[in-house]
Amino acid sequence: MKIKDVISVLETIAPPKYQESYDNCGLIVGNADATLTQALICLDSTEEIVEEAINRGCNLVIAHHPIVFGGLKKITGKNYVERTVIKAIKNNIAIYAIHTNLDSVHTGVSKKISDKIGLQNCQILSPRKGLLKKLSVLCPIEQANLLRSRLLEAGAGKTGDFAETSFNLLGVSTLSHDANAQHGTLRIDTVFAAHLEGKIIAAIAAFATSAPISYELSALDNLYSKIGFGMIGELPQPQDPSAFLSYLKQTMQTNCIRHTRMLRKPVQKIAVCGGAGFSLLPDAIAQKADVFITADVKYHQFFDAENHLILADIGHYESEQFTIELLGELLTEKIPNFAPILTQINTNPVFYL
Ligand SMILES: [Zn+2]
Repeated sequence: MKIKDVISVLETIAPPKYQESYDNCGLIVGNADATLTQALICLDSTEEIVEEAINRGCNLVIAHHPIVFGGLKKITGKNYVERTVIKAIKNNIAIYAIHTNLDSVHTGVSKKISDKIGLQNCQILSPRKGLLKKLSVLCPIEQANLLRSRLLEAGAGKTGDFAETSFNLLGVSTLSHDANAQHGTLRIDTVFAAHLEGKIIAAIAAFATSAPISYELSALDNLYSKIGFGMIGELPQPQDPSAFLSYLKQTMQTNCIRHTRMLRKPVQKIAVCGGAGFSLLPDAIAQKADVFITADVKYHQFFDAENHLILADIGHYESEQFTIELLGELLTEKIPNFAPILTQINTNPVFYL
């Protein structure tokens, strides 16, 4: 197996198209064509992690946070980012980052947190817009079933937001050279996730060699319930707020939870966002969450909770630490006979006294 084979699976789990504009997901260092020895999964691909990869026989490091964010102008080893890149290149180790794209998928970072704390009926807290497309394709009626199945194979009709996988409208086409000649035509409408556009067009192009096909694509402004940040769900039973926070502290293995005033009502509806998710506070309030769990909340931001809910900061590393386990599980599930190794190093740069 080559490194690129693992990358292509990672990119079906979390398509790079779903990363934020400031992000730098993907292969950061290394050669995707190299044969894979073993993969090491971590949150932060630091020098220590590259050292661990060398010692454990891995030539691929899969990290949540990209080691290079804003670009490198010089690589002289003057800081930990440059030293990590140099060490990885010298030792033929590839570094791949799966960051805000993994935050955005409904099976990603925040879902893992929700599962850890036992939330049920989970939905994306802040679904994103502009990630759905609609295809309308005209096809001779005799070939429509085949074309429809090719489109569905390419991923059309599986967004989960619409009950039907396709909508079919029967019509009549006329021919320009003979106004009396008509033939039955089916218009197939279907919706798909924008990152699949290349595959859908390729399916039409392959089909168009056997039948005349015309199609139209349009971008939809609908929210896409499967892609977005954060997660909201419910505890099986209402809980006393302080008992819940103690349970959260233990479950998320954090030494410290910074939180707003404890409200005097049981909590059940819980919103979460791994990492720095404060910007989702209005979504959590609008959806009547009792608690919003995230990290990197600043002093003045705690005021914004305004007693609508309990805002709880559990620490950035702590909120995302189970992402390592998540990536291991997803890759093992999707690639037969492959078990990537999980780092044994805690890269949290924050300590508590
Ligand atoms: Zn993070």
